[in-house]
Amino acid sequence: METIKVELTAAPKQKPADEAALGFGSVYTDHMFVMNYDEGQGWHDPRVVPYAPLSLDPAAMCLHYGQTVFEGLKAYRSADGRILLFRPEENFARLNLSNERLCIPPLDEKLCLEGLKKFVEVEKDWVPHAKDTSLYLRPFIIATQPHLGVSASTSYLFLIIASPSGPYYAEGLNPVKIYVETNYVRAVKGGMGMAKTGGNYAVSLKSQVEAHEQNYSQVLWLDGVERRYIEEVGAMNIFFVIDGEVVTPMINGSILSGITRKSVCELLRSEGYTVTERRVSIQEVSDAYDAGKLNEVFGTGTAAVISPVGQLKWGDKIMEIGGGKIGPISQHLYNELTAIQWGEKTGPAGWVTEVCKG
Ligand SMILES: *Cc1c(COP(=O)(O)O)cnc(C)c1O
Repeated sequence: METIKVELTAAPKQKPADEAALGFGSVYTDHMFVMNYDEGQGWHDPRVVPYAPLSLDPAAMCLHYGQTVFEGLKAYRSADGRILLFRPEENFARLNLSNERLCIPPLDEKLCLEGLKKFVEVEKDWVPHAKDTSLYLRPFIIATQPHLGVSASTSYLFLIIASPSGPYYAEGLNPVKIYVETNYVRAVKGGMGMAKTGGNYAVSLKSQVEAHEQNYSQVLWLDGVERRYIEEVGAMNIFFVIDGEVVTPMINGSILSGITRKSVCELLRSEGYTVTERRVSIQEVSDAYDAGKLNEVFGTGTAAVISPVGQLKWGDKIMEIGGGKIGPISQHLYNELTAIQWGEKTGPAGWVTEVCKG
């Protein structure tokens, strides 16, 4: 494996004093991980260097045709002084799936993990200490060849940047309001909905803006063909508890395969719950609601872990779920997953990777 060089900054920044007020994605650490790809040479020169703006040719292909992919995960500081990652191998496996869809050359997943660990170790003092805070990690790849013809780029940059983040739920686990999007669609089978790529977010901005105007925090996407089957929420997968059965839309080519989603399925099954991955229509959810059998609805994703849904609007119909409170399965999952992630509890083998002592 190529050695990962480290160049430390000569001008470290002041770390934020008020960790509880950090919010998300506005402060960046002192360094970044970088690796280049050039045709004929492959991926080369993995290194940790001082955080700095990139120099890009204005014709760089990522700026024109959206050939980019990304990942998102967190480093956690445990109470007993360790810096931990949650299932990072899954992120690099998924990054390679996204790469495959976007014609980006595959990465050596082991080298990426070594690079991530070295980077996090360099930045370990940036992992915040306050409860429920973490260091958000953003691996991403951009196409850099200066060329205006539409084709796969011959050069790329792989980077990892890091941003200390405050507690997601500053005011407790409040259920969110979402509505079923009936005008726009996010992805169709055969498109790139299963890839973590910028275009899937660009396409969602319009409906995000309209949702906010109506005082909803997110939208629930339906399938792009029949507009009947539930797909996912903005940056979260979605689960329903219907008459005691835990149900989530199956991975179908247009949904992003969330690592939190997978962990929720595995955790609940290991505890004896029945978790079904299948097609779920919005009509079925609405019928379950009318029958008094829609017990819980929650989203899953790295940022929020578990996000209870308290109100679901479909056309003129407003479904109030759980009386404004988080449901028992949602609360249980939140407690279990966060306890594993922050190292308070030992999870299933291989879920937590220790980077270093903190
Ligand atoms: C990242 C993402 C998710 C959640 O995935 P996790 O691995 O659980 O963080 C869900 N949907 C979309 C569209 C995403 O980009």
